[in-house]
Amino acid sequence: PLVLGIETSCDETGVALVRGDELLFDAVASSMEEHARYGGIIPEVASRAHLEAMVPTVERALAESGVTLEQVDAIACTAGPGLVGPLTIGTAAAKSLALALGKPLHGVNHVIGHAAVDQLVHGQFPDRVMALVVSGGHSSLLLVDDVATSVTELGSTLDDAAGEAFDKVGRLLGLPYPGGPHIDRLARDGDPTAIRFPRGLTARKDQEKHAYDFSFSGLKTAVARWVETREDAGEEIPVNDVAASFADAVADVLTAKTIAACHRHDVGTLVVGGGFSANSQLREMAAQRCAEAGIELRIPPIRFCTDNGAMIGALGSAVVRAGLPPSSLDIGVDSSMPLTTVSV
Ligand code: ATP
Ligand code: FE
Ligand code: MG
Repeated sequence: PLVLGIETSCDETGVALVRGDELLFDAVASSMEEHARYGGIIPEVASRAHLEAMVPTVERALAESGVTLEQVDAIACTAGPGLVGPLTIGTAAAKSLALALGKPLHGVNHVIGHAAVDQLVHGQFPDRVMALVVSGGHSSLLLVDDVATSVTELGSTLDDAAGEAFDKVGRLLGLPYPGGPHIDRLARDGDPTAIRFPRGLTARKDQEKHAYDFSFSGLKTAVARWVETREDAGEEIPVNDVAASFADAVADVLTAKTIAACHRHDVGTLVVGGGFSANSQLREMAAQRCAEAGIELRIPPIRFCTDNGAMIGALGSAVVRAGLPPSSLDIGVDSSMPLTTVSV
């Protein structure tokens, strides 16, 4: 079946056409540049940008993939989690298309889409995979028995997401928004062992209750305090070493907990997704530790890690293939959709 996927959970308007595990075309329009001026995403601005970009982006995806709307078998959209205004625009567009075409609608989970998109790149998942979804809004560890029907949330961040922590540390180091990629770049020329920053929720007392949860706000505070102390003493800040040591702490916790979960649940394949999976320190450490542990590592190319329509087309395609009933045309959006809800 041919699925049209629509993503609007945040600031990217993504539209893709997916047939089975094949991506025909993926069009993304971003309002990021507008938000960069404010140092963060303004939901009202993002909603308006989605409203303006939606139809042109759908038209572009159809034109580039050479299919007509009549050939589309199902419409998939992000129903949550994300920003309510943006989600509402995408869901309304998807409902309109479903209604006009008389085709089924499938509202799906954005975070699970970040994992599902890898099927378009590396093929169908084996029976059981571990998925680490890390972005500006999420850091979650998911046990995926079937991406369309059976996803278990093993853990999540209790405070900041990995990308969010990078952006906050970027701000305190005076870097432009979003700070994540800048820290990544600075860290490449720094010594990751220069400063020993704390690894959140790895102490023995936390292991029982929070074995697979993350916490990055203590780490961010530790970096802030470290920098402040040096600044107060009039010392120069070794920015590269701070960035490298901070990035190392984040990558260390993410990979250590993920690999422990793979061992615990006897999983041989790890899928990493979400915009933060662009991070070099995480990629390097995950590659090295997965190789040591005999775990197959699957990370889609970066354009499929940031928000895009292909991820929603991919998950919609899996949901259609699993034979799940369509969503009702009166579905709402859920800004905090649980990660165990694959589709609504
Ligand atoms: P979500 O997808 O959860 O709604 P989002 O749209 O903010 O959140 P993405 O666009 O997937 O998230 O990812 C952006 C985040 O990833 C930002 O926090 C950004 O700083 C971070 N990021 C992107 N590239 C890198 C990198 N190379 N190193 C570190 N962080 C990065
Ligand atoms: Fe996302
Ligand atoms: Mg984004």
